[in-house]
Amino acid sequence: MRYADPARIEALIEGLDRFNATPGQGTTRLTYSPEFRAASDWLAARMRDAGLTVREDAVGNLWGRLEGRDPALAPVVIGSHFDSVPHGGRFDGPAGVVAGIEVAALFRQHGLTPGRPVEVIAMIEEEGARFGGGLMASRILTGRMDAARLHDIADGAGVTAAEALAAYGLDPARAHQARLAPGAIHVFLELHIEQGPVLEAHGQDVAIVDRIVGLAQLKATFRGQAGHAGTTPMANRRDALVGAVTALAQLPDLARRIGRDAVLTVGRMEVLPGGANVIPDRVSFTVDIRAPEEGVVTDLIAQTRAVIEQVGGNGLGVEIEQQLFAAPTPLSAPLHAALTRHAERLGLQGRTMVSGAGHDAMIFADFAPTGLVFVPSRDGISHAPQEWTDFGQLAKGVDVLFLAACELTGVRPPA
Ligand SMILES: [Zn+2]
Repeated sequence: MRYADPARIEALIEGLDRFNATPGQGTTRLTYSPEFRAASDWLAARMRDAGLTVREDAVGNLWGRLEGRDPALAPVVIGSHFDSVPHGGRFDGPAGVVAGIEVAALFRQHGLTPGRPVEVIAMIEEEGARFGGGLMASRILTGRMDAARLHDIADGAGVTAAEALAAYGLDPARAHQARLAPGAIHVFLELHIEQGPVLEAHGQDVAIVDRIVGLAQLKATFRGQAGHAGTTPMANRRDALVGAVTALAQLPDLARRIGRDAVLTVGRMEVLPGGANVIPDRVSFTVDIRAPEEGVVTDLIAQTRAVIEQVGGNGLGVEIEQQLFAAPTPLSAPLHAALTRHAERLGLQGRTMVSGAGHDAMIFADFAPTGLVFVPSRDGISHAPQEWTDFGQLAKGVDVLFLAACELTGVRPPA
């Protein structure tokens, strides 16, 4: 049995992708930008087409509500984000927003009235591409981030999030009103592209995520002595870059040796003073460590520190700063079981997966029972213009959410 319509999904994905600051060079839709406003207005119209009552909350999240037989009950909320990274793809985020709209369209198409409301949400600033940090909507909605902080965070041009919100047409003084009351959500469901190669490699249709990896980010800084590249003998050098590179070359093997799906990435390095003819005296790099088990994350942090400190012992100063630590986040076990059952009933090839990336679902998991479904990413590519998921594959993921939404709202799915 198939429910969702791949052509309807395609029209929404492609329609939304027209609101893009870099056409022809991937999708760029930064939160509160003119493209973001146009995208939001277009999405609102598509939500109304699907029979939803639309409102924009105080920080610009878009909500579409399908009224339930008992409007007083907390809604089943389905959605994701509609901001993008610079020059990213058209599916990361929008796939989950479109999934919510398609679920609502299926209720309407089959004349189903849910027992409790179903709400579709399109969220702002998940990527953090404009204001940093990321997951901003879900953190504000669930009370993890105080909306007053919108005055403190700024984009690369120095525009604060509060100023951008005002330019977007909303009142920063009311931003705190976006926060949800405890119990305001019955269940949160998100569909997201996998952004990795596993489903495609195994020829599988969907992954039901049971937890989000634990994550730590360190910043290591090596300090040496600057000097002239031509006049300082090799024997007398304290080269911070040579030290940093010696340490970082050993780090990936730590993750390989510890195994257990641990990954370690050095993604950013800064070399100062940065002259071609100057011995570097200060070099810093980031270390991103992820693993499904908290003990593995903490072991890998300790081993990373030991390697860096050992290299630093050779006449260089080192500092290690832990900038972020998030324990693995389990998602709702009953929802995981239900989503798995629905996928089986649909005859889909599925698997359980740990998510290696943070998603809005990770934040909602502490606020309401939360479920997360992945669909395949072609070649595992994401955050790039080549990001792709076939619309038929997206439809299969939507079917899983549709059956879940039926069950959670006391509706018998169409035979
Ligand atoms: Zn995303």
